[in-house]
Formats: sequence, structure tokens, C-alpha cells
Amino acid sequence: MKIAFIGLGNMGGPMAMNLHKAGHALSAFDLSAEACSRFASEGLPIAASADATLSGAEVVISMLPASAHVEGLYLGSDGKPGLMEKITAGTLVIDSSTIAAATSRKVAEAGAGRGVAVIDAPVSGGTGGAIAGTLTFMVGGAEADLERARPVLEKMGANIFHAGGPGAGQTAKICNNMLLGILMIGTSEAIALGVANGLDPKVLSEIMRRSSGGNWALEKYNPLPGVMENAPASKGYAGGFGTDLMLKDLGLAQENAAAVRAATPLGGMARNLYAAHSLAGHGALDFSSVIKLVQKK
Ligand code: NAD
Repeated sequence: MKIAFIGLGNMGGPMAMNLHKAGHALSAFDLSAEACSRFASEGLPIAASADATLSGAEVVISMLPASAHVEGLYLGSDGKPGLMEKITAGTLVIDSSTIAAATSRKVAEAGAGRGVAVIDAPVSGGTGGAIAGTLTFMVGGAEADLERARPVLEKMGANIFHAGGPGAGQTAKICNNMLLGILMIGTSEAIALGVANGLDPKVLSEIMRRSSGGNWALEKYNPLPGVMENAPASKGYAGGFGTDLMLKDLGLAQENAAAVRAATPLGGMARNLYAAHSLAGHGALDFSSVIKLVQKK
């Protein structure tokens, strides 16, 4: 299948590589020349612009940071037309960025007006899941469009869920990430408490992992350097899932909670703690670096 892939960051890069390795004909682009040359050196075909990826594409996939990037790409910005005006009718658009559900619906409506099917398909599983091709996709849109996307999604993920109509994938994603943000802080507090009492963090982490406090952070993403070899914490909190991206997701959850009058007290507190961590200069570090807020210096 001919696939246009836009956004070759920590997630998009490995996802595009998995499609390329599976034999799809890719044409990829990122605004970052560094990202383009890194993946070009791994054999990924790179186009000169987002527009140039479209030539012959049957599917367009985007993996961008936030709502403004997705809206700018598809619907245009600063008087420049968006990609939607150039995508051929009949093409399927899969946006895997985590963005506001309202923005996903806006892009889907613009697509519908031009005969272009659009699904929101945000992911969970981290950079490890993106590299291994084991991501979880949470899809919003028409069931028939998900079925068209399925053979492509299966090359990047292990679990594919239909959450509901347009935007529903985003709603499922912010519920998940609100929980993840809260549990990373809780896990950090528990480890820091044990370490302050002289416990070995590896032993304590293993005890909690196999006890009732067990969770994804303890399984795959320990926040303390040196406990888990492949976790971002052991790589200077480089790569992974940026604190500012987690802050964005917790902000989306709070906006949504206000709109539907939901009570999310821990989600609100978590957003404030990641905001403080970002203001302290750690916005670009992986979100598990939030342990710095509670760690003894
Ligand atoms: P990232 O910042 O590493 O990558 C985003 C890339 O998009 C960058 O390389 C940037 O140059 C590029 N970009 C921005 N605007 C562009 C445009 N108009 N055209 C082309 N390229 C453009 O972010 P990431 O970690 O890959 O995350 C991407 C999305 O996936 C975010 O919405 C994030 O919340 C979500 N997500 C991330 C993770 C994770 O673990 N990193 C996990 C699940 C979901």
C-alpha cells in the first residue's frame, strides 16, 4: 500500500519504520531535518514536504505533538491551505496524535466534505511499543473506516479498539493518560519513601510490582535511574514521553472534565504537579522524571 507518513518523532519514526519494514511503500516527512536524515539513514523514503508525501498515497498517517499542529497540517494556518485540500477523494486519513476530541471531529468533518475518510487513532504503549510494533490503538470514527485501516494498524500495534464515533479515540486516550500521569506520581512517591528509609529501590520496586501496588510504571517504566536498564530514567530521561506532552494530555482531560462537569481531583492535582515540574525546566525530559519533585536531593 502507498502510505504518506507525517511526523517522525519519538513515536512516529519507529511506527513509520515498522510499516516500511512490512513492505508498504512509504513517503515520509517531518519539519525537523534532523529527524528526516536520521530515518533516511535507516532506509525510510523521505519526501521534500508534507504535500510531496501525497503523490499516489492511499493512506495518510500523521503523528504530531498537539491539536494546533494537526489543525495546521490538515486545515491550514496563517492563510496557507491545509493538506485536506490536496488529498484525493477516497483516501483514508489516520491521525494517531493525541489531541482534543473537538479537533479530531473538525478534521473528520473537513474530510467528509471532500470524500476523505478520517479516523482518530491515538496510541498507548510508549516508545518501546512503537519500536516493537505492539502499540494499543484507540480508534474513533466509522467502523468501516477502521476495517480499512486495520491491516495498516496491525503492522504497528497489537491491540486495536473501536472506542466510538469521531473523537472517541481521543476521549479514551485522555482517560488512560490521566490515569498514567497519576500512577507515575504515586509510584515515584512510594519509591522515594522507601529509598529515604534506606531500602534498595530495585528490591522495593520488585516487591511492589508483584504486590497490590503493581502497575505499568513498575512493569515497564520505572522512574528511578538504574532500576530498569531500558527505561528513559536510565538514559538521562531522554526520548520517551516528554513531560510537556503529558502536561498537554492532562490539560485536555481537565478541559473535558470541566465541559461534562466530571470530578477529577487527582487528575487536576497531577496536571499541576507536571506543570510545576515543567516550570522547573524539565519539560523536555521524559515524564517519569517527575520523581525529581519528591526525591531527596
Ligand atoms: P515528538 O515531539 O517526539 O514528535 C513529533 C514530531 O512531529 C516532531 O519530530 C516534529 O518535528 C514533528 N512535526 C510537528 N509539526 C509538524 C508538521 N506540521 N509537519 C511535519 N512534522 C511535524 O512527539 P512524540 O513523542 O512522537 O508524540 C507524538 C504524539 O503521540 C503526541 O501527540 C503524543 O502525546 C503522543 N504519544 C506519545 C507517546 C510517547 O511515549 N512519546 C505515547 C503515546 C502517545
